[in-house]
Amino acid sequence: MLRAVVLEKKASEPRLTDIDDPESPGRGEVIVKVEAAGVCYRDLLNRKGLMPRTRYPVVMGHEFSGTVAEVGQDTEEIHVGDRVAGLPHSTCGSCRYCLEGRENLCRHRLQLGEEINGCWAEYVRVKSRDLVRVPEEVDAAAASIAGCVLGMIIHALRDQAKVRSGELVLVTGAGGGVGIHAVMLSKIFGCSVIALTSSADKAEQVREAGADCVVVGADMLSHSVREMTGGEGVDVVLECVGEPLLEYSLKSTAWGGRVVLIGNVNVGEARVPIGYMILRENALVGSIGTTKTSMAEALSLVKARLLNPVLTRLPLEKASDALQLLEKRASLGRLVLTP
Ligand SMILES: [Zn+2]
Ligand SMILES: [Zn+2]
Repeated sequence: MLRAVVLEKKASEPRLTDIDDPESPGRGEVIVKVEAAGVCYRDLLNRKGLMPRTRYPVVMGHEFSGTVAEVGQDTEEIHVGDRVAGLPHSTCGSCRYCLEGRENLCRHRLQLGEEINGCWAEYVRVKSRDLVRVPEEVDAAAASIAGCVLGMIIHALRDQAKVRSGELVLVTGAGGGVGIHAVMLSKIFGCSVIALTSSADKAEQVREAGADCVVVGADMLSHSVREMTGGEGVDVVLECVGEPLLEYSLKSTAWGGRVVLIGNVNVGEARVPIGYMILRENALVGSIGTTKTSMAEALSLVKARLLNPVLTRLPLEKASDALQLLEKRASLGRLVLTP
């Protein structure tokens, strides 16, 4: 038996319980002893029953790092004892997107913690091809967010925003677990950063993360941005909040600017000012998950101490509390559970 945080049915309270050990790893599969597992806004949406593909009962969680405990046949370069971090979903390895190295778009992807059992547990069974090796200098908690947080932001900035050094980036939701790392990574990409946060008490932390300017509250956002940029606006918006802020984001964007949608806290739809965007050649682009390339890049930035993730560690038993902290925006940086 092993301990795991299980969602029994739609919108139920997650429960720490003993479940059967995972089945022996099949071809291409490994069992990972989980050492750290991130807590994502997506987990909160899942807990509320808002992720339509979730199959119940399911072990929650999709962000993890750990040590390989057992391997099946054909597990390529992954061996027992390797330290690894995982993609937030399983991939097929053979669709057009997988073959192009765009594993985040795998047409047969199955999300951990929703469609298949996740990692808020002592052990998780995954495919070896969905793992990235973790350098020994990177601790387990930092490695656990290499996928859904750090790799995801790198993918959004480099592949989707096509950001260039010297550009001005606006990060919304900058006090959150994704936002604070989006500020740090934008700086690493050589950009200046305006950060928007709803909580005044997180402004200092966001500034410490490297933001050149912090705006508290969305009401004055587009006005402040225009004032700061001589009326020009920002080159890139990393939209971590979604529908509630999209109008402000678009109004803050320069001619030719790009808005990348990373998160949508209320799962709502937004109206888009089409004419305004055509005239200004603004791009609105989604960004989902991470590629293994972006994950490896994130891990090497942490290894080189160019990036120091902001983490709050909690024991696995506190998974429900962690989701409440996330909902109340009361946590610092990313919450990470340790089994
Ligand atoms: Zn996540
Ligand atoms: Zn695929």
